[in-house]
Amino acid sequence: MKKLVVLSGAGMSAESGIKTFRDHDGLWENHDVTQVASPEGWAADPHLVLEFYNQRRKQLYETRPNEGHVGLAELENFFDVHVITQNIDDLHEQAGSSKVLHLHGELKKVRSTVDESLVYELEGWQLNWGDKCEKGSQLRPHIVWFGEAVPAIEPAIELTQQADIFVVVGTSLNVYPAAGLLNYVSRGVPIYLIDPAQPMFTPSSNITFIQEKATTGVKKLINMLKPQQ
Ligand code: NAD
Repeated sequence: MKKLVVLSGAGMSAESGIKTFRDHDGLWENHDVTQVASPEGWAADPHLVLEFYNQRRKQLYETRPNEGHVGLAELENFFDVHVITQNIDDLHEQAGSSKVLHLHGELKKVRSTVDESLVYELEGWQLNWGDKCEKGSQLRPHIVWFGEAVPAIEPAIELTQQADIFVVVGTSLNVYPAAGLLNYVSRGVPIYLIDPAQPMFTPSSNITFIQEKATTGVKKLINMLKPQQ
């Protein structure tokens, strides 16, 4: 089976009702990202940060995968599909994708503030001030904030280098190191880019731009890939 690697971003989940942020003047649900998605923001006001992610988590429990997520999961019948996602939601998994690598963490998980190897599934949607890890320190969202290391980038690079087909869905390609993954796609490998707006990329003969939303774009992609199965 050919290895098909997908890089997805916030646009992937937009039609499920989860807002992207670059489309809204760099604000994420009306918040400056440095307030809610940086170590400095956490140090300045952890209550605001906890509440922000509680609201995102609550929304996620009311959200379903869209046809784009489902289409990518169904591609597992024909390809060895690996999803690398910048999204912190679990809509790829809910749709049935079996190999999902989260670059920026996972909304439904929390971790210790003194030992980052202590990661827990959160029961329900609320993480509160005073909720502690087994070492007695405050728990924080299991999210990679701006300015923090991205440990999953190494396996993501490896997957990208092994791809026979590379697909990009719903990312402005503004956030590094995720955006840099495109540079690791092997020479000659076809790249399909699905986005209603043209993200920043250098046009080249192996890139096919599908100017569509994720739901209709993934359908078109599946039709284009049929001859390659
Ligand atoms: P981004 O907000 O920078 O860019 C979104 C991209 O999606 C844009 O190129 C836009 O044109 C495109 N888009 C909008 N509607 C679309 C649709 N219906 N179908 C397909 N594409 C559509 O997103 P990013 O590049 O992923 O970077 C944002 C960062 O914010 C990521 O690190 C991510 O962790 C975080 N974030 C995550 C979520 C989520 O988990 N669902 C939501 C918002 C932000």
